[in-house]
Amino acid sequence: MTTFDLIIRNGKIVTADSIVSGDIAVKEGKIVEVSADKAIEGTAVKEINAEGLHILPGLIDSHVHFNEPGRTEWEGLETGSRSLAAGGATSFFDMPLNSTPPTINKANLDLKKERAEEKSIVNPYYWGGLVPENIADLKDLHENGVIGFKAFMSPSGIADFNNVDDESIFKGMKEIASLGSLLAVHAESTVICDQLAAEKQEQGKTTARDFVESRPIISEIEAVRRIISYAEATGCKLHIVHASSRKVVAVINDAKQRGVDITVETCPHYLSLTVKDLEEKGAIAKCAPPLRDEDEVEDLWASVAAGEINVIASDHSPAPASMKTITDNYFEGWGGISGAQSTLNIMLTEGYFKRNLPLEKIVALTSTNPAELFGLETKGTIAAGFDADITLVDLNEEFVLKAEDLKYRHKHSPYVGKTFKGNVKTTIVNGEVVFTNGEIVEK
Ligand SMILES: [Zn+2]
Repeated sequence: MTTFDLIIRNGKIVTADSIVSGDIAVKEGKIVEVSADKAIEGTAVKEINAEGLHILPGLIDSHVHFNEPGRTEWEGLETGSRSLAAGGATSFFDMPLNSTPPTINKANLDLKKERAEEKSIVNPYYWGGLVPENIADLKDLHENGVIGFKAFMSPSGIADFNNVDDESIFKGMKEIASLGSLLAVHAESTVICDQLAAEKQEQGKTTARDFVESRPIISEIEAVRRIISYAEATGCKLHIVHASSRKVVAVINDAKQRGVDITVETCPHYLSLTVKDLEEKGAIAKCAPPLRDEDEVEDLWASVAAGEINVIASDHSPAPASMKTITDNYFEGWGGISGAQSTLNIMLTEGYFKRNLPLEKIVALTSTNPAELFGLETKGTIAAGFDADITLVDLNEEFVLKAEDLKYRHKHSPYVGKTFKGNVKTTIVNGEVVFTNGEIVEK
């Protein structure tokens, strides 16, 4: 009789292709057997009865800002990774900025790796930065394992992470193409956003609506069109992060049809919040690109359903509450939404239950696709030989998100007070239970 480390019995196993009832056996951090419609023979050190639960591959959150080292008063790897575990995520890709020093050379990458190995309870991966000053460092970063590179086409809001101008991004893309890596881009037009913001503020127009109008969808479209041209000229593989509108996705889709190597991410906040939330909740719902109106949210869901979106990631971008206050000027106050813990809850409540988005599609968008896109060959699905990164979900459980449920350093989020259907019961990382029944499992 085989002895395993862990057997999960009687669950409904969800992958990007199918849902089957069955058991999963784990040994030394790997899934070693998946049985459909029959029990796995053998015993295990630990058994979990998943009767009534769905078993999903752990989410891979390809876009977070955990701000460590250097800005841990905003979040940090410990609280950040715990919030992911509580939300069913088992891996994250940390963005190169908001940590200080930013991840723009190998020495800085090593600092972050060291901290993450010590503090993260889920699997850490790292984006490298592309800034005007570091083109000579890209090769070193690539060879030391960054997932890809991230650049800002408009000011990042962080003093030590400069946005690229057209000349440096073009040079950087040539280098990234030659390395066989990819570039993720924050695509908003500096010219459009800066001029509109200046006009608004000169006229004393500083409401939530004014802020949103200063960063219009056309600003994203302009930047995306320009960067697509550069991708076509350099052969650099592109990933557009946080598209806020289907109109932006349409431009990317056209490029895909022409054979451009390009993919696109959107975030749960663009699928669940609107300008009205920004007006009501203030800076807690402020981000860039900004939230859009109701019709844009519905169009974006249609885009998700049509398979036009490759990846859903949180863009968790936390800050202390003191930076999230707005008096009467929406141009003030830190932009960035705390959402890492709620991605799956939003996809289930707003997607699966409200708009009939199949569970298989949710798994594809949050786990299988990012694993395939970014080369995580042993992650993103539930099958023998893959890493035992697993989340158990009770689809019948309803709850109202309370601030004290959040594992973030700063317990605020635009989703507090929202009723969710479908909750994460247990999260398993490399075969170890890290979260169960609302609590982090302390080592
Ligand atoms: Zn971001």
